[in-house]
Amino acid sequence: MKCPKCNNPISSLKVWLISRWSFVKCKKCGTRSGRKINIQLFIISILLFSGYLIFNFSLLFIIWVLIVTYIDAYTVRLVPKDEQDGV
Ligand SMILES: [Zn+2]
Repeated sequence: MKCPKCNNPISSLKVWLISRWSFVKCKKCGTRSGRKINIQLFIISILLFSGYLIFNFSLLFIIWVLIVTYIDAYTVRLVPKDEQDGV
C-alpha cells in the first residue's frame, strides 16, 4: 500500500486495521487514509465468502483468507480521509 498523497509506503499488514470507520495514518505526511469502496472490495468479499462456503472453518479456510488478504493488501487503493468524507 502507498500513501495517496506522498507515495510513502505503508505496511501492507495495516490493511487488516482498515475498516469502514478506521484509517491508517501515513508516517511521513500524516494523511489518514481509508480504503476505496470499489469493485475490488466487492470481489474480495465474494472470495472470502465463497471460501467459507467451500472450506468452512478449516485450516484451508484460514490459508485461503491469508492468501486473499495478502493479494488485497498489495492491490488496495487508499483514499485520504478528507476526500472520502466529501463524497
Ligand atoms: Zn503520506
